[in-house]
Amino acid sequence: MIKTLGYAAQSATSPLDSFRFDRREPGVDDVLIEILHCGVCHSDLHIVRNEWGGTTYPVVPGHEIVGRVVKVGAGVKGFKPGDLAGVGCMVDSCRSCPECLEGLEQYCRNEIIFTYNSPDRNAGGMTYGGYSGCVVVDEKFVLRIPANLDLPAVAPLLCAGITTYSPLRHWKVGKGDTVGVVGLGGLGHMAVKLSHAFGANTVMFTTSPGKAADAKRLGADEVVISKNADEMKKQANRFDFIINTVAAPHNLDAFLQLLKRDATMCMVGVPALPHPSPSVGNLIFRRRQLAGSLIGGIRETQEMLDFCGAHGIVSDIERIPIQKINEAYERMLRSDVKYRFVIDMASLAS
Ligand code: NAP
Ligand code: ZN
Ligand code: ZN
Repeated sequence: MIKTLGYAAQSATSPLDSFRFDRREPGVDDVLIEILHCGVCHSDLHIVRNEWGGTTYPVVPGHEIVGRVVKVGAGVKGFKPGDLAGVGCMVDSCRSCPECLEGLEQYCRNEIIFTYNSPDRNAGGMTYGGYSGCVVVDEKFVLRIPANLDLPAVAPLLCAGITTYSPLRHWKVGKGDTVGVVGLGGLGHMAVKLSHAFGANTVMFTTSPGKAADAKRLGADEVVISKNADEMKKQANRFDFIINTVAAPHNLDAFLQLLKRDATMCMVGVPALPHPSPSVGNLIFRRRQLAGSLIGGIRETQEMLDFCGAHGIVSDIERIPIQKINEAYERMLRSDVKYRFVIDMASLAS
């Protein structure tokens, strides 16, 4: 067993604090990674505070992991000690259902194992995530990191990057499309960068007027303050695709009305329940579609990282020591993130 230091929440109402636990020794197909940086996703906060139900305590969050390989099992072919490596939201799946065989492990029918708060098949108990010193993962779920990118700023690609890349690709967003991005936080700022990189005319919808200049810098062609009803009215029936990253319950009709006939709004934000239903009429009268999308498969995550390497795309980050994590959660709740917190894991030891 590998003695590991991390940060955990012991209940839905307690702050995160240091926590010692054991990782398994790497098996034949495993990679042991020293974690250097871990992004802070709003899902971490939802799960720490049990906003979706189903949290098992203690919970060690973190699924935007980058680090360096320290040790590999005898069967590992793709990684060697010293290599950079990444781990996202999943560390295993059943590997045999139709979804897994198609490389869509995130939709595994049988047994998806998330990076934290999932039953741990290997060590027993629950999986513990990236707010910790190291992690042991089967190489099939370990990603290669492009060498030219700034490492801490790569971490958020492992969740925020792939969660926005996957639906933008699935709905074939590109040149000639007008795309709306709702919410300028961790996911939203990656969606703007990627939509812009794919050549779409990209419109940012934000509730925060103070973020307008940043949205343009990140790649938005236009910015709409979504609280302004007059501005919203002018956007009606205009969009080929909208990606909605909002982390709180809100009125979906305000955005569904902006879609063209046959166009789709894809939810990636997962607000806590209860959530108000949109009006069915808004869907029916223009054959509009409301969809959802969950992260992305391992193959597509690698494709996304390689795309970001080729185009020089990383996250805009604010680096924090782990001791500031509880404060960072409070700022995230106030929509005060520019645009992703990333924990320097070296701070664990200090
Ligand atoms: P985040 O950094 O906190 O960003 C969320 C943004 O939503 C905020 O910055 C804010 O943008 C907007 N917002 C917040 N409260 C709002 C409200 N009451 N009304 C309207 N807009 C509001 O969060 P994130 O890490 O990007 O995550 C966003 C959501 O995606 C979370 O629910 C998370 O759990 C979920 N998620 C889903 C997946 C998936 O696979 N589907 C993966 C990762 C995360 P403005 O200031 O611009 O309005
Ligand atoms: Zn996430
Ligand atoms: Zn499966």
